[in-house]
Amino acid sequence: MATIGITPSRKIEDYRQSILHVGGEARVLDASAPIDQALAGVDGLLLTGGEDVAPAHYGETPHPTVVAAEAGRDEFEIAVVKAARQKGLPIFAICRGVQVLNVACGGTLVQDIPSSIHGALNHSLTVPPHEPYSLAHEIWIDKDSLLSKLMRERLSDADECEVNSRHHQAVKDVAPGFKVSATAPDGVIEAIEDPAARFCLGVQWHPENFFRTGEFRPLFEGFVEAALKSDRK
Ligand code: MN
Repeated sequence: MATIGITPSRKIEDYRQSILHVGGEARVLDASAPIDQALAGVDGLLLTGGEDVAPAHYGETPHPTVVAAEAGRDEFEIAVVKAARQKGLPIFAICRGVQVLNVACGGTLVQDIPSSIHGALNHSLTVPPHEPYSLAHEIWIDKDSLLSKLMRERLSDADECEVNSRHHQAVKDVAPGFKVSATAPDGVIEAIEDPAARFCLGVQWHPENFFRTGEFRPLFEGFVEAALKSDRK
């Protein structure tokens, strides 16, 4: 069975359930342990949602809307991404996770979508009556991507789908070697991946909120399957 290491987050249950529902073992990583120890016995890395990455990590000063994450979280997650990539572990990154992944690999972020992108859609559907799984906007998927390959069965020959959305930041400059695999109609980057890696995918929406109904189950299936083949070191 593949053991998936999940980065600690205040809301962990849907991530855990999403892994369990596709036959993976879920383990919340110990952020206080040295990185090698934290990743010991882990076959795949799942990066979770949360507050913003400090802009200092990509050489910028913070916009007033930036909300700091838990103390030490940026440093732990950036280090864990680098170690996981060095080990060749599959990585699946969600919301803040895709932002951490991009920054850890040398990319930058849009610090605040509403004040930076004219005519942007509402990407922050956070207040009632919106449920975590309420659909917010469409995404357009690049056909030549891992994301498209994974979603093909569900999308048949379409290249768009509806996603939920709870973010005010997004990927700006894509990290070297990565490519954009989906965008929203306003141009906001909704998914990136590293085509050179076996499985290194980040999405800006929250697929884990759909574990009961399975809309994004193929993403977790593909991730856990890749982790099963992982050469644990
Ligand atoms: Mn969005």
